[in-house]
Amino acid sequence: MDYTSPMRKWHELKFFSTDHFEVPLPEGHRFPIEKYRLVREALVAEKILSDEQIIPAVEASEKDILLAHSEKYFYGIKNGTLPEKELRPIGLTWSPQLFSRSLGAVNGFISATENALRDGFSATLSGGTHHAHADRGEGFCVFNDFAVSALKILNEKRVSKILIIDLDVHQGNGNSSILGTRDDVFILSLHGERNYPFRKVPSHLDVPLPEHIDDEEYLRALSSALSPLRYLNPDIIFYQAGVDVLKEDKLGTFDLSFEGIVERDRMVFEFQKYLQVPMAMALGGGYAKPIALTIEAHLNTYKVAREFFS
Ligand SMILES: [Zn+2]
Repeated sequence: MDYTSPMRKWHELKFFSTDHFEVPLPEGHRFPIEKYRLVREALVAEKILSDEQIIPAVEASEKDILLAHSEKYFYGIKNGTLPEKELRPIGLTWSPQLFSRSLGAVNGFISATENALRDGFSATLSGGTHHAHADRGEGFCVFNDFAVSALKILNEKRVSKILIIDLDVHQGNGNSSILGTRDDVFILSLHGERNYPFRKVPSHLDVPLPEHIDDEEYLRALSSALSPLRYLNPDIIFYQAGVDVLKEDKLGTFDLSFEGIVERDRMVFEFQKYLQVPMAMALGGGYAKPIALTIEAHLNTYKVAREFFS
């Protein structure tokens, strides 16, 4: 692909939200569904994004979802007929609203991808559902947004190579099970070797890291992983910017500070700038208590992005 459009300025970029899809979850549920609304409100309150830049995602089509998922699984989720043993690993209570939100989450990332191809950068204020496999979901992930979006733009021949940079603390086993053996996708994953999923599915480049890794060691590992990828020649980067690498995260095993995550994001945006290719970003995980710490970390990612487009 010949990407020649100029990168746009920050205030011209578009972002996609999904928190208008409300999903009923029991009080005190482990999945912080309120996070998505809080991130959007904080981005606007701190004037990082304007309301006009944030577009509520619509539902993805069945045709798009079926690019990456089996019909049996899709209809099981749609009709609520998935057996309990297949529903349990997802960790979310089934409802018609869960189906709608899952479609919305995928469309948020498809839209971010479309906008990134035009504008240089875009993001969804949710997503990064990298644990969803073709025929089953797990780890709070129903449908796989990166896989659907990747297969869509590859099938449409709009790109010939996609680089996925997945820095969520959890390995993207779903991304790898769907895309991990393709030669038109390259998945880089830095993740906790002692974190869920306990059975990893090989990516193109996996960098498993030990518990309690600090900023310095982490950034060194990221830098050496990115360095050879400068010769990869992707047409677009998908960035899963999970902040569950934060020391205070309840589901992560790393000891990164806020500053460490800011440096991580700078390294990724520097890399994008060096390659001069578009990037679509998803929020990824973040499960600190109180949730305000996670919100702050996600906001920092947006502040770093803004530095690069101002
Ligand atoms: Zn995660």
